[in-house]
Amino acid sequence: MSAEKSPCPGRCNARYRKAVRDFDEATRAYETAMGSWVNARQQVLDVEAATGADDGTRNILRGLDELRPQPPAPVTIVPTDGAPVWCDRDQAAIRRALVEIDDLAALLASWSDGHRGAGSGERTSGHRPGSASPSPIADTLDELYRALATVETEWREARGLPPRPHRGAVEARTRTIGWLLGQLDQILHHPGSVAFGRATLAWQRRLQQATRSDPVVRRRPAVPCPRCDRRALRTRDDGYTQCAGCGRLLDEREYDELAELAEIKLAVEGPKDSDEHSAPARGR
Ligand SMILES: [Zn+2]
Ligand SMILES: [Zn+2]
Repeated sequence: MSAEKSPCPGRCNARYRKAVRDFDEATRAYETAMGSWVNARQQVLDVEAATGADDGTRNILRGLDELRPQPPAPVTIVPTDGAPVWCDRDQAAIRRALVEIDDLAALLASWSDGHRGAGSGERTSGHRPGSASPSPIADTLDELYRALATVETEWREARGLPPRPHRGAVEARTRTIGWLLGQLDQILHHPGSVAFGRATLAWQRRLQQATRSDPVVRRRPAVPCPRCDRRALRTRDDGYTQCAGCGRLLDEREYDELAELAEIKLAVEGPKDSDEHSAPARGR
């Protein structure tokens, strides 16, 4: 195994990852522009070679030199190193997320069992035709359980532990989460834990949304659209998030990155559009 440090894949480096992506995009644009520039210059040189240099070609070449594309500035943000994979804060964040996932899933399960109160937001009318389950909540909880069980199975195999015991349906999810919490420090020190850690944080956000709003089309007002800056993002049934303002489409990964950035901004600046009903409590 390499002893080289790599950046923590957690929230602490969301700004860094965005800067790297922007830099890569700018580099591609620069390379394209540079290719066109070299071509244009070569055409003038070809004319010069054929007919001889004159004021006209010299002026064009001088003009082209001024238009020479500039490479993008390198990324200056210094990323937080993992210890060895995740930083301490993100390890703690993933642990909290796993605990909260257990609570939120239990809440959702109680709605789906028919014990939910009014205004829980489950609307089966928007249900996708042709899919087997009448309840998006049950689908979501099944998907969560399968994901958790897969991680437990893989970790047991990786560590040479006995296979997963059979667990009764009612407590299976909670006991799987409890088992993972017991192993979490070791899991998060493993270089293969990046996908699991990110998925755990994504599940936390997804269940937070599901306990708050319509599970079929989830509104996501906390994150402004990256193109038009309006707070009009909606996550569709197919998992893609779309801006109701300009139509910009984001996949789950891209949305997660933006959500991380928005959370960091909130933490730094405090809530931006606080409304009358939730005026900040002045406890001093
Ligand atoms: Zn971190
Ligand atoms: Zn938009």
